[in-house]
Amino acid sequence: MTAKRDYYEVLGVSKTTPINEIKTQYRKLALKFHPDRNKTKEAAEHFKEISEAYAVISDPEKRKIYDQHGHAGVDGRYSTDDIFQGASANFSDIFGRSGGGFDSIFESIFGRGGGFGAQQSRGSDLLYETSITLEEVLSGKKMEIELKKNIECNVCNGSGCKPGTNPNTCTSCNGQGQVRKTRSMGFASFVTVEPCSSCRGQGSIITDPCKECKGSGKKKGIKKLDFEIPPGVDNGDYTIPNEGDEIPGGQNGDLIVRIRILPHQNFKRDRADIFYDQDVSMIDAALGKEVTVPLLDGNEKIKIESGSQPNTIIKLKGKGLPHLNSRGRGDQYIRVVVNIPKKLSKHQKNMLEEIQNSFE
Ligand SMILES: [Zn+2]
Ligand SMILES: [Zn+2]
Repeated sequence: MTAKRDYYEVLGVSKTTPINEIKTQYRKLALKFHPDRNKTKEAAEHFKEISEAYAVISDPEKRKIYDQHGHAGVDGRYSTDDIFQGASANFSDIFGRSGGGFDSIFESIFGRGGGFGAQQSRGSDLLYETSITLEEVLSGKKMEIELKKNIECNVCNGSGCKPGTNPNTCTSCNGQGQVRKTRSMGFASFVTVEPCSSCRGQGSIITDPCKECKGSGKKKGIKKLDFEIPPGVDNGDYTIPNEGDEIPGGQNGDLIVRIRILPHQNFKRDRADIFYDQDVSMIDAALGKEVTVPLLDGNEKIKIESGSQPNTIIKLKGKGLPHLNSRGRGDQYIRVVVNIPKKLSKHQKNMLEEIQNSFE
């Protein structure tokens, strides 16, 4: 058995490195040696090593013990399981939502139930793409869609068994669905609980499968779904939890609604604000004029002031799009585009020259 390396050395940091830098460093290393990315056995070992180091260093109490008494202090006080269990919050902080990808990495390395809660099978996420107009962004849009997806088999109610029959209890695990194994890691040994391989964690084996779903308990079906796209959305993906594929005995996947905002003939958009170009003749710009501009909902008379310069911006407060997560609406901006005539009759030319002379 080789001696354990210093935790700070393992992470490539020093005792005085600020904790947020240690976190960044750990994340970098963890991604590099992540078992999903790096399949070598050394990588898995190294991943365990850096994760253990980070679990201790990121926990103020364990870090204090380590700083004072070294590995002997920590190992004498905590099992490997304890080290990771207490730190799971730190890890989910780093790797996003708790119960997400990182927990399952630990499960694959340490075995199911290695301190991170039992793994649950989960249906696939589904993608639904839709395009909406700016007017619909203003009002929000009620959607009624039909999703083709895996749903529970209606013949066996998801059990996978031919109706009237029951699954047999798995003899390898006595119906527990899991088997206990003791393994040693470094100085510590701990017990892990792993899914039974005979029944793939189900605790039972189907001997007489349902004909409709061939024992899978699910089948392709159509589910009607109503939901509302809220006012103010932008291009992007929005998640509706639990509306993805269904999986018997597991958690549903999510439905990802991918929204694309269609281009608008009048308006350009920047978040909650919209932009509109109003053409005016150079005469109107000089003399002033009342014009009617379109809004997303209706229209409004505005005054082009006499002497308006090209690209003057007029703001209509609160006439933009709703803010997605707060009250109120953005603004509509009107840009005055001054049109200079490209062709003039002889008569018009003479008159303009006359005007020009009057300025001198
Ligand atoms: Zn069935
Ligand atoms: Zn079993």
